[in-house]
Amino acid sequence: MRVSPSTAAVSGPAPAVEATDAQPAAVPAPKRKSRVRQAETQLGLTRRARRMNRTLAVAFPDAHCELDFTTPLELAVATILSAQCTDERVNLTTPALFAKYRDARAYAEANRAELEEYIRPTGFFRNKTSSLIGLGQALVERFDGELPHTLDELVQLPGIGRKTANVILGNAFGVPGITVDTHFGRLVRRWAWTTEEDPVKVEHAIGAIIERKEWTMLSHRVIFHGRRVCHSRKPACGVCILAKDCPSFGVGVTDPETAAKLVKGPEAEHLLELVGR
Ligand code: SF4
Repeated sequence: MRVSPSTAAVSGPAPAVEATDAQPAAVPAPKRKSRVRQAETQLGLTRRARRMNRTLAVAFPDAHCELDFTTPLELAVATILSAQCTDERVNLTTPALFAKYRDARAYAEANRAELEEYIRPTGFFRNKTSSLIGLGQALVERFDGELPHTLDELVQLPGIGRKTANVILGNAFGVPGITVDTHFGRLVRRWAWTTEEDPVKVEHAIGAIIERKEWTMLSHRVIFHGRRVCHSRKPACGVCILAKDCPSFGVGVTDPETAAKLVKGPEAEHLLELVGR
């Protein structure tokens, strides 16, 4: 779905930049707002964070888990493989893997050397093979071959930490979950939503200011924004739809012309339209 700039203005807060016929797009200078935010109250933070989430919903109406899967087990396996690996590479690897290993018992009884070859392209394949075999065995022994539906049970399974468990809960079982990966942590700290570094503390801090029903989609939107606009080394601040609410405006490229070239992904044209480019 595409959202026009005018729709964006109705559906959520006004984009950071609005182009008019008479006046070309320009990103507002954030200096004065930054001083105000030094004394931001918890209520002010909550309102700003929720407003930014609504803006991200306009920017990324189709945000989703970028790993391919059709069952909870496939999502668990893909998420384990995604450690230190791109989603694109995982998605190239999993079709053959999923065709060969169709259920938990197949992983539990897998030939280690054979399974290693299937997942070798994703890196750290020996550790990941141990996790997959261990996961299959634990599921067969304790959960009748099915993935459990609670965080407490999921995190006790081999290869599944809190981040993976939240991905599974949110995307396979419809239970709201916040996924704190490297993008999510970087962005929410840039936005001064939290100063925490520890992923669990970040998860709790964000859970306290964002509505629970939004947690899963917020995670997707933030990760999309981190991959496409707010990059680790060169954020595209000059064309960022969040500029007016972001206290870190200026850590990246502010010249709109240059910043536009930094926007990545299939939504690039849509994202630039939203800021009047
Ligand atoms: S790109 Fe710049 S303005 Fe946008 S969220 Fe990141 S730091 Fe803030």
